[in-house]
Amino acid sequence: MRWLWRGAPARQGCRTHAIVATSWSVLGVFLALLVAARPAATQVDLAAERARMVTTIEAHAKHASIALGRDSIAPEILKIVSDLPRHEFVPDGLRGDAYADRPLPIGYGQTISQPFIVALMTDLMRVRPDDVVLEVGTGSGYQAAVLAHLARRVYTIEIISALADRAAARLERLGYGNVATRSGDGYYGWEGAAPFDSIMVTAAASQIPPPLIRQLKPGGRMVIPVGVPFALQHLVLVERDPDDRVTTRQLLPVSFVPLTSGRQR
Ligand code: SAH
Repeated sequence: MRWLWRGAPARQGCRTHAIVATSWSVLGVFLALLVAARPAATQVDLAAERARMVTTIEAHAKHASIALGRDSIAPEILKIVSDLPRHEFVPDGLRGDAYADRPLPIGYGQTISQPFIVALMTDLMRVRPDDVVLEVGTGSGYQAAVLAHLARRVYTIEIISALADRAAARLERLGYGNVATRSGDGYYGWEGAAPFDSIMVTAAASQIPPPLIRQLKPGGRMVIPVGVPFALQHLVLVERDPDDRVTTRQLLPVSFVPLTSGRQR
C-alpha cells in the first residue's frame, strides 16, 4: 500500500486535504477490491484442496486395483467429488481437515467416510442416470449428495434422528431436491420406495440384511461392509442377477462404524 502515499506530499492546507481525501478514497476502493477478492481466493484454495484430494483418491485406487479388478475410479465420480463442498458436511471446527483423505467425526460417535471409500463405493454401485438408489447410514449426507449427482432419486435412512434431521436440512439448503431422507432402522430398508437399482450401506453389518436383498431389483448391486464391529470387516459387493441368483464378492478390508438396530436381530 506504500505506493498510495508516494507522490502525495502534504505541503499546502487545502491541497493537502484534497490529496488526503483522494488518497483515502483510493485506499477505500483498494480495500473494497481486497475484500471482494477474498471469497474468490478462498474458493480457489478449496478447489485446490479438492484437486489434491482427488489425486490421493486416484493413487489409492491404483493400489486397490487387485481387489477391485480395475485401477481407476470413473471420471464422472472424480469430477463430482472435485466439485462437491465436503467442508459443508463436517462440523465447523473440522473444516480445515475437510479435504484430507480420512474419516472425520460428525457427532454421536459417528463419522463421515474417507473420501477414497466414498468414491470407491460409489463407483462399485455403477449408478445410471435413471436409477433409484438407497443409502443406509445418512450420517452427514455427503455420500447421499455424491449419489444425487448420478441417480434420478436417492433415498437415505439414518437411525440417529438428530443426524437425519441435520443432514436433511443441509441437503435441502444445498439444493439437493432429489434426495429423500428419513430417520429409521435401515436394516429393514425403505419398503415404500423399493425396489432399488442399487443399495449402499455405510455402516458395518454382521450379515447382509435379507430385507435389503429383497429390496434390490434383479440386476441390481449392493455395496456393504460386513464383519465384526471395530474389528475385521470387508467391503462386499452383492449382485442379484436377472435370474434372481445372488452372488457376493469380498473386495477389500475396511473399517466402518457398526450398523446398529433398536430391535434384537
Ligand atoms: N454415509 C455417511 C457416513 C456414515 S457413518 C456420510 O456420508 O457422512 C454410518 C452412519 O450409519 C451413522 O450415522 C450411523 O448412525 C448410521 N447407522 C448405523 N446403524 C444404522 C441403521 N441400522 N440404520 C440406519 N442408519 C444406521
